[in-house]
Amino acid sequence: MTHTAEILSVGTELLLGNIANTDAQDVSVALSQLGIDVRWHTVVGDNPGRVKQAVAIARTRADILITTGGLGPTYDDLTKQTLAEAFGKKLVFHEPSAQKIQELYHQRLGTDELPDHALLQAWLPEGCTVFENSCGTAPGCGFEADGVHVLMLPGPPSECRAMLNTGAIPYLRTLSDSVLVSHNFRVFGIGESSCEQLLRDVMEKSENPTLAPYAKEGEVLLRLTAKADSVEEAETMMAPMAEHVRRILGSFIYGEDVDSLAQVVFGLLKNMGKTLATAESCTGGLIAKRLTDLPGSSAVFLGSAVTYSTPSKHRVLGVDETLLREKGAVSAETAAAMAEGVRRLYGADYALATTGVAGPDSDECGNPVGLVYVALSSERGTVVRAVHCGNVRARCRSIASNHALDMLRRELQGIPQAE
Ligand code: ATP
Repeated sequence: MTHTAEILSVGTELLLGNIANTDAQDVSVALSQLGIDVRWHTVVGDNPGRVKQAVAIARTRADILITTGGLGPTYDDLTKQTLAEAFGKKLVFHEPSAQKIQELYHQRLGTDELPDHALLQAWLPEGCTVFENSCGTAPGCGFEADGVHVLMLPGPPSECRAMLNTGAIPYLRTLSDSVLVSHNFRVFGIGESSCEQLLRDVMEKSENPTLAPYAKEGEVLLRLTAKADSVEEAETMMAPMAEHVRRILGSFIYGEDVDSLAQVVFGLLKNMGKTLATAESCTGGLIAKRLTDLPGSSAVFLGSAVTYSTPSKHRVLGVDETLLREKGAVSAETAAAMAEGVRRLYGADYALATTGVAGPDSDECGNPVGLVYVALSSERGTVVRAVHCGNVRARCRSIASNHALDMLRRELQGIPQAE
């Protein structure tokens, strides 16, 4: 059976624009991965009458209703009472939840004296599946009434996310006989529309499995998804399409089911027992940050020199002053000399360097905003890529750092720098 879902987020602060509705986003992502169509996102304030109205509408158009927020102990937390009433369910006292609440108050406040309202959270719709709250006091729940599955999750995003994983997703899995399996191709160096053009035929024709592109910061994520009775069957259905994607996109695919370019580069360096250093001008240490965000990166990453000013490129990295004067700080020659200099400085196997114009203004030599030279130096020599990273400063730096990591990824995988 195909299910359709509505997410009903309860909270006046959402309507006032004080906070963004990240709970609805998290729930939507989880549901689409389960193959459940999310048809509606609704936001309603902490007002029982309007919550009732929203529920009355939702139950006519969805058979899964997921609420977020309003499960806590305060006067405006009214989701459970309102939903239970709307679906004709009595609230009953759930002893294990009450005990857990008591323990939490004891741990946090060092007292066994509970505020009057604290145990209100332990009243839950009769016959429901209780979702334990591993990060807070308010339990959530799921029940079925009149053909609608109602699931209630807490508002604080960390609680909502945890309960989604440990309570709601397992509950929703039991509603479906089929499994949904996805693989993500991570693509860099070719835009979303070019990807779509190359794969349009397959994307348009495919119903199961499906192939869909998602633009990410300077790169593309292609998601291949199949619905089947078992994981094995889904994998078999996806195999020919996966092969087709690999054939068409070739080395633009930097990884499958991986988190990031930095993670791929780190993995390659680690497996090969090689080291890296970076010299960064316009990226200001971003490449170093992305690598050192990864646990264990000290095994491969030796260090970085953020040589932002022109003199520092000479003083720290030993870039020739005449070269800097004649070619300028933003030039292919300077990028190459920076990479060679930092490789020497740190005694690394590989070095990456960036120099460019992140904006908002062009530089004194008239180089346009967004022009970045990225260099890779190794014992095999030095190569430079000139790239145009756009005129939005943060995005330009991020894309330039992607290019640098991609150059190293290609070198380590033994594939040509350009297609
Ligand atoms: P509590 O026990 O904290 O009262 P609750 O389940 O009653 O939890 P709310 O009182 O509705 O949740 O919200 C608590 C906090 O969680 C809000 O102040 C807000 O910061 C955050 N929050 C609520 N709803 C959302 C949402 N949809 N997206 C992101 N954050 C939210």
